Amino acid sequence: MTPQRLKSIARLAPIILVCMAAPARADWVRRVSDGIMGTRITVELWADDQQKAERAIDAVLEEMRHVDDSMSTYKPTSEVSQVNAKAADGPVRISKELFDLLTTAKEYSVLTDGAFDITYASVGYLYDFRKHVHPDEAQIDKALPAVNYQHVLLDPKKQTVQFSQKGVRIDLGGIAKGYSVDRGIEVLKAAGFTRAYVSAGGDSRIIGDRFGKPWMVGIRDPRKGEGEVITRIPLVDAAISTSGDYERFFEENGVRYHHIIDPHTGHSASKVRSATVIGPYATRTDGLSKTAFVLGPEKAMEIYNRIDDIDAIIVKLDGTVIYSKGIEPAKVPAPAK
Ligand code: ADP
Ligand code: MG
Repeated sequence: MTPQRLKSIARLAPIILVCMAAPARADWVRRVSDGIMGTRITVELWADDQQKAERAIDAVLEEMRHVDDSMSTYKPTSEVSQVNAKAADGPVRISKELFDLLTTAKEYSVLTDGAFDITYASVGYLYDFRKHVHPDEAQIDKALPAVNYQHVLLDPKKQTVQFSQKGVRIDLGGIAKGYSVDRGIEVLKAAGFTRAYVSAGGDSRIIGDRFGKPWMVGIRDPRKGEGEVITRIPLVDAAISTSGDYERFFEENGVRYHHIIDPHTGHSASKVRSATVIGPYATRTDGLSKTAFVLGPEKAMEIYNRIDDIDAIIVKLDGTVIYSKGIEPAKVPAPAK
């Protein structure tokens, strides 16, 4: 896809290359770091001072560690784990940060007809994709009534959360990486940086351009290696998230078990191979990228097209690629094999 095809969206890159002289000592500074949120973090920015850049990157990683510490369900001490332990017994007072994110999560559930639902975890905790463990039908039937975002009761005045019944669990794995990327970008903006890229796994956000050129973000071919892309998207001041059924999965008796769960059935949601969502914030694009797996390509695309600030690229099960209205190319790329 050429950049020209994408110019209908204001936030996508300007096409005209502007020649700008860079200050003599200034340069791009890039760091790749593993170990936070179990994923790869990349930070790249334009800086006129190497030390200032390194300190800013430290601050971004620190912020991401904080998000991980308070939201990970793998950590029993995290605020979310505390909520899971206590919120069925009564209201639990939580930080403003978590309260706001739970409010956002509920908004996404409404936007996606319930496809995005942080209470998926009421069943989701029975899966372990690393150890190839999945629940049987009886376990799913027993746990499924606890899956419903409406079981999460939020009181903005008291800043509390309560679950309306026992068995409800939440997991913010579907937006935490996107949220941490947005937090990282805020840290960089506050420090005065105007050209930067932050990514955590499949969630990225960009501020500024690369001196007249857009940032080019590749969308991986779901059935090929990491370096193989179906297309590259030129972006300026935008976020992009890709969810894929290749991320965390195992196969057993011909069934592919992977990490996106259909809240209506408790089974892996397998209606597409991958979904990429482009929008203004990574929290939003992360939250919305799961929808296509649950609702299927057509219904999901209808929803993506309905939301003003969102565009999407979906790789269907047969390998064909479909685009939202804002970025539809004249010619669809060859199907992924
Ligand atoms: P990544 O974790 O690599 O960012 P995704 O963005 O595709 O991958 O998010 C997948 C994660 O979303 C799962 O690991 C799980 O924590 C969470 N999740 C799974 N199903 C749902 C769902 N129906 N609604 C909300 N979150 C979900
Ligand atoms: Mg994600």
